[in-house]
Amino acid sequence: MDLGLQGKVALVMAASKGLGRASASALAHEGVSVTIGARDSEKLTQTAQEIGKTSESRVLAVPCDVTHPEDLATIVETTMQEFGRLDILVNNAGGPPFGYFDSFDDEAWQQAFELNLLSTIRLIRLVLPHMRQAGGGRIINIVSTSVKQPIDGLLLSNTIRPGVVGLAKSLSFELAPDNITINNVCPGRILTDRLLQGASVQEKLAQGISAEEALSGQTKDIPLGRLGKPEELGALVAFLASSQASYITGTTIPVDGGLVRSLL
Ligand code: NAD
Repeated sequence: MDLGLQGKVALVMAASKGLGRASASALAHEGVSVTIGARDSEKLTQTAQEIGKTSESRVLAVPCDVTHPEDLATIVETTMQEFGRLDILVNNAGGPPFGYFDSFDDEAWQQAFELNLLSTIRLIRLVLPHMRQAGGGRIINIVSTSVKQPIDGLLLSNTIRPGVVGLAKSLSFELAPDNITINNVCPGRILTDRLLQGASVQEKLAQGISAEEALSGQTKDIPLGRLGKPEELGALVAFLASSQASYITGTTIPVDGGLVRSLL
């Protein structure tokens, strides 16, 4: 299927590896010129080169911490200078730390808010004028299944990320007259470095158990019986960015092998 994305320009955040990288790669393979941002300049540049080589699309690396407003302004400005337009924004960031209520002080809550909600708000504010100028746009937020069903030991995600869903649903009707759609994608358990950060996995790794074995218990409650692959999420991001997805807005779609049991 031709997704009708040739000549479009995307900004994909937190894309040096994992789900951001997979999203950037899926878009680049559809002929989209992509700017990717993450904090680690060296890794980011290497990722941009790798995606650029396999896709033959232009991939620009702009180092960026999504919690620094000045970095966000720079990455949007650089994208406009280099590509002259901006059609697609993929909001993504590192996940907040694992832990329970007693382990988090005000600073931890503030950091999670800035990382996983305020960065999204700021980026949307920065890209809107350019999307309006282009006659429309696509905003895709990578969140978590925690917005559908709280995850044990992930209190910050369970509390802060639903704010992104509320924001997206509200903006879906505010931005519809501008032909801008906004949707959320919820990874379940997708095999990236993030999955190795959980406390129980870290305990097993510390005992010398291999990563594969440490993660083996994580597939038992997944109906499809396995962890997801980053490209399985990237494919949905590319589809939501496409012209075929023009009538989809305000939705929150899991990519989780059937893990979440809720009806909505
Ligand atoms: P990952 O650890 O593989 O990649 C995280 C990326 O975020 C890296 O590129 C890193 O450099 C970047 N990053 C971190 N903090 C940043 C910051 N302040 N500014 C800019 N870039 C930053 O993780 P992932 O699996 O790709 O996860 C992406 C998002 O999806 C995270 O928010 C994660 O919590 C969420 N998520 C992942 C899963 C999963 O199964 N992998 C499940 C649910 C939610």
